Amino acid sequence: MISPVETWVAQTTGLTGNLNPETLHHWQLDKLKEQIRHAAENSRFYRDRLSVSTNLTDLPFTFPEDICDPLAFLAIPQSSVARITTLATSGTTGEKKRIFFSESDLKRTIDFFAAGMSTLVHEGQKALILISDETENSLGSLLKTALSGIGVSAQILGPIRNAQEAIDAAIGFDCLIGMPAEILYMSRTEPDLRPSSILLTADYVPQCIITGISKTWKCQVFTHYGLTEVGFGCAVDCNQHAGHHLRDADLIMEIIDPETGKPVDSGQRGEIVITTLSNEAMPLIRYRTGDISRLITEPCGCGGLLHTLGRIEGRYGSAITQANGKSFSIHQLDEMIFADPGVRGYQAMLESHGGPDLLNLTIETNSTFDLSLLAGHLPPDLKIRINLDKSDPFRQRGKRIIHID
Ligand SMILES: [Zn+2]
Repeated sequence: MISPVETWVAQTTGLTGNLNPETLHHWQLDKLKEQIRHAAENSRFYRDRLSVSTNLTDLPFTFPEDICDPLAFLAIPQSSVARITTLATSGTTGEKKRIFFSESDLKRTIDFFAAGMSTLVHEGQKALILISDETENSLGSLLKTALSGIGVSAQILGPIRNAQEAIDAAIGFDCLIGMPAEILYMSRTEPDLRPSSILLTADYVPQCIITGISKTWKCQVFTHYGLTEVGFGCAVDCNQHAGHHLRDADLIMEIIDPETGKPVDSGQRGEIVITTLSNEAMPLIRYRTGDISRLITEPCGCGGLLHTLGRIEGRYGSAITQANGKSFSIHQLDEMIFADPGVRGYQAMLESHGGPDLLNLTIETNSTFDLSLLAGHLPPDLKIRINLDKSDPFRQRGKRIIHID
């Protein structure tokens, strides 16, 4: 089956029967002009910065720190804002980023979610959402609305205090939507749960987690790439699991060299930069995501002709650099530690205190942990201490990080 996302792109752009990278590109450039005009006329940040006649790749970037003044981006009257999502920032200023959405922005997100979810669930099935909450127009609520539109009954689990609660709640559901480390923990704690499809989202997805879950539950594992700033959903893979089909009717994705800011050569790895095409409340032009991936230009095995987005390979700036210049990241640790089929969960805490760095790993495993998995992959002078103990990811939720003591 061709990815429902590509079918949705064809319908939304009106290019059904004539959709290919070339025709899409021309359609996107027309939409881009409208979006630039809207941004330049209505948002304080973009006034004087944008010109409709300039090539996309010559327009200035928008950086995450720019959004710390969110009202500068608002391009509709405040009374027309239907949803404000607050993002915690990792910066030291304590500024909160606020993201605005209009009714129509939310509706387009629901339409994309409906197409994306059709890849992995069908009418009559039941889906459990293990992210977000029931608040009106929250990510979870938008997803639930989208699912109900395609005949899938969905439940949002809301606050979850521990893995057992999530496992008990998941009994009888066909599809689980959640964060990679949490779903992996559930699968290795309750191998008999056996949902038929999984969508991993909201954090970096290590390849070994995809393999681990699909082996244990003998199910299909799909991955979604999204970003709240541009409207939550951006791309989801298909049953070929070879690339993420893009939300091309609403977004333009570029891959750039983060040092030079120039587009990379076709198919090369770099930073994902996203431009919105239809956002009313908060148009974003060339938004720097910090996420690392590449575009796949070959047609997908599902029959899709459009370019797809490769695996998300981590984030620029997420690595911890030691005094000797050597660095490592949570993504690297995840790929090594979760590859051990016994490991249910783990947490990493780095102690420096002026002396040599000590990495404390609290690992919960069904057997013993094989330290040789880490050998040769971490900076040689990094001391590692392993504690075998409980490490339930639901007790400290959020994107995975190396905690610093
Ligand atoms: Zn495909």
